[in-house]
Amino acid sequence: MKLPNTSDKWRFENERKKVVEYLWRIGIIKSEKVKKALLNVPREEFIPPHLREYAYVDEPLPIGYGQTISAIHMVAIMTEELDPESGHKVLEVGTGSGYQAAVLAEIVAKQDPSKKGHVYTIEKISELAEFAKKNLERASYSKYVTVIVGDGSLGYPEEAPYDRIIVTAGAPDVPKPLIEQLNDNGRLVIPVGNRFFQKLLVVEKKNGKIYKKWGIECLFVPLIGKYGWTEY
Ligand code: SAM
Repeated sequence: MKLPNTSDKWRFENERKKVVEYLWRIGIIKSEKVKKALLNVPREEFIPPHLREYAYVDEPLPIGYGQTISAIHMVAIMTEELDPESGHKVLEVGTGSGYQAAVLAEIVAKQDPSKKGHVYTIEKISELAEFAKKNLERASYSKYVTVIVGDGSLGYPEEAPYDRIIVTAGAPDVPKPLIEQLNDNGRLVIPVGNRFFQKLLVVEKKNGKIYKKWGIECLFVPLIGKYGWTEY
């Protein structure tokens, strides 16, 4: 695999700054913490080598096995809705490339490791879990992110409860185990709808009660699993 040389590194940094500044100017990025995280995580490290030159095109890109790394604005919107904080324990369902997990790890763990925040991320396709692990290692996030292979629609009870849960695949409804594994005062963000059209749903748990708020329309690859869709 060809690693970026110095001029590639400079070019990628420049392109990253431009797209983040643009998303900030048009109000997609709202908070300093999300802005800083998107500026710090090198998206090019999470893209298959032959597509790296498109790392800062704000679109989903193929990562193999029929899956995609989400567009940069979608990662920004979901991270803003999730509102992660330093020290939080986060579960991500749908690791894909590992990029979203790295953005979350920047906020909950890397900026202040003394608070012991951590990201657990679960991926159904073992080859993609391996791809993500390598990407996270190259970009220096593996200390803060644990990658698990499995059906994330069941959550990951071993480390529950979680302060934040994010699902980056489209589901027919909110998987029951994820609600159970959410901490009190916790928040869950998930695209819910049919296989071709979803809306972002924000679920909050307060004193054991569940509150739901619908957000923007979106289109994600399907969540395949016990509490998701069945295989094609
Ligand atoms: N967050 C990813 C990133 O930053 O690259 C993008 C995720 S991609 C849009 C959705 C991912 O969810 C795919 O990699 C897919 O294999 C995975 N997936 C689908 N159903 C799943 C399940 N039940 N459990 C875990 N992962 C699942």
